[in-house]
Amino acid sequence: MKTDVIVVGAGPAGLMLAGELSLAGVRPIVLERRAVPGTAHKASGLGGRILDMLRYRGLLDRFAAVGTPIAAPIFPFGGMHIDFTSLADGPMDAMGIPQARVEELLAERAGELGAEIRRGHEVVALDQDEERVTVRIEGPEGAYTLTARYLVGCDGGRSRIRELAGIAFPGNTFPEVNRLGMVRVPDTVPVRDDGGLDLPGYGPISPGFTRTERGVFAIGPVDPAQRTMFFQTTEEDRTEYDNDDPLTLAELAASAHRVLGAELPLGDPIRLSRYQFQARRAERFRSGRVLLAGDAAHLLPATGTALNVGMLDAVNLGWKLAATVQGWAPAGLLDSYHEERHAAAGRALQQTRAQAALRRGQDEAADALRAVFQELFADEPALRRLAGMISANDVRYPVPGADAHPLAGTFAPDLPLLTDQGETSVAELLHAGRPVLLDLADRAELREQVRGREPRIVIVTAKTEERPADAILLRPDAFVGWAAAVDEPADTAATGLRDALDRWVGQP
Ligand SMILES: Cc1cc2nc3c(=O)[nH]c(=O)nc-3n(C[C@H](O)[C@H](O)[C@H](O)COP(=O)(O)OP(=O)(O)OC[C@H]3O[C@@H](n4cnc5c(N)ncnc54)[C@H](O)[C@@H]3O)c2cc1C
Repeated sequence: MKTDVIVVGAGPAGLMLAGELSLAGVRPIVLERRAVPGTAHKASGLGGRILDMLRYRGLLDRFAAVGTPIAAPIFPFGGMHIDFTSLADGPMDAMGIPQARVEELLAERAGELGAEIRRGHEVVALDQDEERVTVRIEGPEGAYTLTARYLVGCDGGRSRIRELAGIAFPGNTFPEVNRLGMVRVPDTVPVRDDGGLDLPGYGPISPGFTRTERGVFAIGPVDPAQRTMFFQTTEEDRTEYDNDDPLTLAELAASAHRVLGAELPLGDPIRLSRYQFQARRAERFRSGRVLLAGDAAHLLPATGTALNVGMLDAVNLGWKLAATVQGWAPAGLLDSYHEERHAAAGRALQQTRAQAALRRGQDEAADALRAVFQELFADEPALRRLAGMISANDVRYPVPGADAHPLAGTFAPDLPLLTDQGETSVAELLHAGRPVLLDLADRAELREQVRGREPRIVIVTAKTEERPADAILLRPDAFVGWAAAVDEPADTAATGLRDALDRWVGQP
């Protein structure tokens, strides 16, 4: 059997990609080795730019109906907390929503748009040549092969696809051992109103991180009605354990005892896991007809960032791969996925590695480093810069030319617009996931440049108060491909737009 695109893995990255490809008119086959969707507690929320992106696709309401928006969050950073509540405009949006629900909603959307999700189908071998990729799959009815024009490995940090495609995954594993348990709190331990604990023999423990001389202890809610919480310990001193053996309640309790110096009574566990953070990035996000996205492409050594970055990979790749399959992609469009997202992952690695450095160390120098950062967290410019890093709101893709408009390469602002048909907005224009030339100053010579490239791109003439540019080329992933300065001369604006159209939309 032959298809256009195979997506391996129905995690957040694979399902987001399946939806984006389908929106652009290419219906992929998603192969997922698990027979039923996973219910394990992983990420407990979404944060940062992906929430804007979901809104720009008209999907945010679905997520908000299930999740809990957090307007001004207190965010974990390097074993400390950054309190963004002092900033009135909330530069770091977050939403509490279990990862399993995120995956459910993404699968629902991909299915509605025509993607086929095959559960219980594991890819075990891969071969590619100049024209196709062929995979061998073990499915519920036995083994079979499937051939596609492209394949995307969204198969997680231990990616088999990455290995089969021969893509290196350089980086490091941090020695600290984290032990995580989702556990019922016994009735003998009082849970405080703020979600913390009064631990006999230790005293009050606030939600979030507690640092002691022997490590870090963290707690947070899972299901307050059932008195279930997550408990996590982080220890630098290596204790004896066999990594092949699963974490037990006794091992978690012993670790908590070492860190807190007090006994932590633990009830029935829902989930127990032991892990070490890794900082890794695939050397290439593309090898011929095989691409990587999500954890398969990068592992970040801090919580709260990976879903955002991985789902944004999918949004960046979806339209480019669809354009390639549909035959209208300009030269280099698919390779720009690696150029843009490899760099974006590098930025995310930088801030999460910095978090690893802040978390580590029990000596005076490490304490001083944390104290200095804690002071910086009180300053508005520092808070805003960190919000930009954590949310990925500060990502600017490279743009050619030193005199590019400041909007070029950035995520498009959600301008309110007035058109002949009535009120709309940049976010609404991007629901369909197609390139748009947004003409904000009735510039006929710019609209003329689009002629012959429709219907790949649509033209929208609109007015907005205090326009930041005379015209904006919106890419389907909501990034600005090009913009004309207010009153930019016709010849330079037309040339700039023509070049940008050639680059992002293809020749007439
Ligand atoms: C306890 C825990 C807490 C976390 N907390 C956070 C958090 O707070 N914030 C955050 O952003 N992230 C968090 N993460 C990380 C987040 O869960 C991952 O970054 C995310 O799941 C990665 O998504 P993905 O789609 O790239 O890969 P995955 O979710 O790993 O999905 C990969 C899929 O591919 C399938 N697969 C693998 N191999 C094959 C194959 N050969 N054939 C077919 N299918 C295959 C797998 O079964 C899986 O379903 C947490 C993770 C854990 C474990």
